[in-house]
Amino acid sequence: CGIVGYAGPGSPSTRPLDVTLDGLARLEYRGYDSAGIAVVGPEGLSSVKRSGKLANLRASLEETPLPAATAAVGHTRWATHGAPTDVNAHPHLSADGKLAVIHNGIIENFAQLKRELVDLGTEFTSETDTEVVAHLLARTYDEVHDLTDAMLAVARRLEGAFTLLAVHADQPGTVVGARRNSPLVVGLGDGENFLGSDVAAFISGTREAMEIDQDQVVTITAGSVRVIDADGREVEGRRFTVDWDA
Ligand code: GLU
Repeated sequence: CGIVGYAGPGSPSTRPLDVTLDGLARLEYRGYDSAGIAVVGPEGLSSVKRSGKLANLRASLEETPLPAATAAVGHTRWATHGAPTDVNAHPHLSADGKLAVIHNGIIENFAQLKRELVDLGTEFTSETDTEVVAHLLARTYDEVHDLTDAMLAVARRLEGAFTLLAVHADQPGTVVGARRNSPLVVGLGDGENFLGSDVAAFISGTREAMEIDQDQVVTITAGSVRVIDADGREVEGRRFTVDWDA
């Protein structure tokens, strides 16, 4: 339902987590039933997710803090496939725990994709449509060794509506996003960059923004924003300045 992504400077800190929690709080107005976060950094990928309000997630983070990180993704869920439980909350992880994905929308062909993955021996832990994307992305990443290329290939196989963000432990400074029939906006920071399902997600970090068009894939690091179209060709994003008061 709400999506936040952040890529910051190389030295790991709590900023990725702080920015993501702040973004999720600013997206609370949309309504949600669960929330979760994944961070990546020198210690690999770590995540936490809880059904219920953001307060549940914050309480869990106080008990078991996440390590300092260089990038993060955060999600508030409005369940469409699978009950609002901890397990069905996002992020969804690959079997090796190195990749995390968050998703707004509905993957219409998830049942068919799930059957294919189950036939290949993949074990599913949740009842969501989203989990197929985690496993597909992980399998593709292991072939192409690049999160952007993997996202582009997987997005082509998906039907329905999605905003997707993914992080991988082997690319700890990068967040990759894709969208179809569901919004995704980039926030252009100074030595850091943001992604959000709407500008509220990063308004406390920057007012310089860029729209992501239908079927485009965006890759952010601390110092770069790269947008490609469905054919993998580099394109210029449309920039705008957010002019409302936060
Ligand atoms: N279809 C996904 C799920 O049920 C995402 C729902 C959402 O947009 O929050 O988990």
